[in-house]
Amino acid sequence: MSSSPSSTSSVLLNTGVQMPLLGLGTYKLWGPEDVHRAVDAALAAGYRAFDSAAVYKNEADLGRALRELLPKYGLTREDVFITSKLGPKDQGEKAMQGALHSLSQLDLDYIDLYLIHWPGTQGLVVADQRNPGNRAESWAALEELHSQGRLKAIGVSNYTPAHMRELVQTCRISPAVLQVEFHPRLCQAELRSVCAEYGVCFQAYSSLGKGELVTDPRVTEVAKNCARTPAQVLLRWAVQQDVPVLPKSSNADRIKENARLFDFTLSDMDMDRLSALDCGHKYCWDPSEVV
Ligand code: NAP
Repeated sequence: MSSSPSSTSSVLLNTGVQMPLLGLGTYKLWGPEDVHRAVDAALAAGYRAFDSAAVYKNEADLGRALRELLPKYGLTREDVFITSKLGPKDQGEKAMQGALHSLSQLDLDYIDLYLIHWPGTQGLVVADQRNPGNRAESWAALEELHSQGRLKAIGVSNYTPAHMRELVQTCRISPAVLQVEFHPRLCQAELRSVCAEYGVCFQAYSSLGKGELVTDPRVTEVAKNCARTPAQVLLRWAVQQDVPVLPKSSNADRIKENARLFDFTLSDMDMDRLSALDCGHKYCWDPSEVV
């Protein structure tokens, strides 16, 4: 656990590249104006990472917003870290085409991190035995684009411990990142230990419980104790464990608020009080039944 408020604001991936601990989540950011406004606020607040996905239908808007806004902040493409994800409809034989489509939507020569969004394939029931073959085929496509330098790092999202073991036993290139739901009510001990074992960076999504956790009285009490907001406390709880976070907001003030994570430390007691909320609660989708 990091103890210093000035602790590093990035993590080293197994590719040798640094990934920012803070990125802007973009799920439900739609349309050129909304994306432009949020990216502008995020760059102003110091965000240097952005998390998109084919299914969010905002890759083109994100690419355009960055092209328009980076010069305003004296930044170049190399200064930002862009993540996108292969949609479940493109798992399997369509994976290469799906990843190339993301590159073309973003209008980028390369994507910093590209993830398989979901272990299953759209249109197949969870127990369909074609899912493992489709995952392997998707991974091979990502490996190929990684070798060509078009996907600088590749990884997965929503994989269970069993999916992770299946992948590391068969892959040519190890996954760099596993992105899953993670917050005090879902501490994911087993997945974190699998990631540590295989050298995979464990990354959080829905750190604010999709906004619902910020009103939890047990969270607001910790926030009151340290004179911070509930959102800052929830995000700090993760980054203090070196877990990168991706808070989403479309509101400029909240985007700024969510970035103020590196100038305070939660006491061990407050960290423990938050971790004690763990009850396996998921605010998002549950991949545990996908074979
Ligand atoms: P989240 O970040 O936990 O919560 C977002 C919600 O909290 C929004 O309704 C937002 O409303 C509100 N909010 C943000 N900052 C706030 C603050 N300071 N105080 C009070 N409310 C605040 O939820 P999420 O969007 O589910 O997750 C974040 C990102 O993770 C996504 O955008 C996406 O990039 C990624 N994600 C990935 C997956 C996956 O399957 N890989 C799944 C889910 C999410 P306003 O916009 O109105 O501020």
